[in-house]
Amino acid sequence: MIDFTHTKQLFQLPGNVVYLDGNSLGPLPKSAPARIEAMLRDEWGEMVIRGWNRAGWMQQPSRIGNRIAPMIGAPEHSVVMGDTLSIKVYQALAAALELTDDRNVVLSDTGNFPTDLYMADGLLRSLDRGYVLKTVEPDAIVDAITEEVAVLMLTQVDYRTGRMHDIAALTEQAHSVGALVVWDLAHSAGALPIDLAGCNADFAVGCTYKYLNGGPGAPAFIYVRPDHANIVRPALSGWLGHEAPFAFDRDYRPGLGIERFRVGTPPVIQMAALEASLDIWESVDMADIRSRSVELSELFIAEVEARCPMLQLASPRDAARRGSQVSFKFDNGYAAMQAVIARGLIGDFRAPDIMRFGFTPLYIDSDDVLAAVEIIDDVMSSRAWDVPEFHQRMAVT
Ligand SMILES: *Cc1c(COP(=O)(O)O)cnc(C)c1O
Repeated sequence: MIDFTHTKQLFQLPGNVVYLDGNSLGPLPKSAPARIEAMLRDEWGEMVIRGWNRAGWMQQPSRIGNRIAPMIGAPEHSVVMGDTLSIKVYQALAAALELTDDRNVVLSDTGNFPTDLYMADGLLRSLDRGYVLKTVEPDAIVDAITEEVAVLMLTQVDYRTGRMHDIAALTEQAHSVGALVVWDLAHSAGALPIDLAGCNADFAVGCTYKYLNGGPGAPAFIYVRPDHANIVRPALSGWLGHEAPFAFDRDYRPGLGIERFRVGTPPVIQMAALEASLDIWESVDMADIRSRSVELSELFIAEVEARCPMLQLASPRDAARRGSQVSFKFDNGYAAMQAVIARGLIGDFRAPDIMRFGFTPLYIDSDDVLAAVEIIDDVMSSRAWDVPEFHQRMAVT
């Protein structure tokens, strides 16, 4: 079992705060500032442009992809870093569509994160080949996987409720009707054991600033099943996905395998921060993370339900169907979350009425959970949220 009292020491957490929002932005690894400073001074500062060769900046997206791969059950050379998750969703869906024909439905669910659906919409419109984006309720997905479906595009863990899809079963079902799958692992990577190769998943994407603690703006990752990676011609055919970027050929020739899913210049400084975090993740067993996360979530649900009857559980009660977050519904959820934050418990709010709390065992323990419940109980029973200042909406909720 991981020594969680040790891992908690490896993160800088703001004083007098219980942080249950690591599912949205992971905290700073204490080793990251020195790591970034050394990169800036020794690499950018001393090497300037020579850093691309000498410091290995050019290989960084694949090298870090190979560090993410074992965390999601992917083989070496099947994951590469870069861009934002929105871009990676677009790339993966475009590639999947290229590998299917005679079908016109992209199937997703109404619980998917809006940017995934927006990007799909934009892509399908620009392709102008009669594709339709069909969304059904999460529980209706199983019945909606028909032979019209070209691509099943889902986020494993619902960002609002934490409800979790069964990657293995849905991938198998999609394949049985001849469809391909794109899995978004935004709320899975660093939260759950995932076995992409074992599930035979076609494409997967995810971000590194949530559970993986890569910092705001850390790059996304894309996984492409190795037998697809050498066939597909990337829709975003950037120069760094070219077979020989520095040949400066007039025409695009896709790079080898996963390399072709690179687009442009990688975010080198940001990846130094991510590497500091991956050093911590390297010694961590995902099964331990998962079992502790379930333990903490179950404790939280039991305590909140016992003490705050006005909050209604919005997450699946069955831990096996839930990711690493717990959500409660409350009509004045925005104001209540503001009041809770003012008392030192950071969670977040998702419209229209969801108060969301993330459980991240690397740096959250059962004392934190009990302290969090204390604050929630205090805010709810005193109606401390019902003052004008807590009703003022800020840009980021
Ligand atoms: C967090 C999240 C995103 C964010 O996309 P960015 O391009 O990184 O801003 C996208 N999709 C899902 C499912 C998410 O949870």
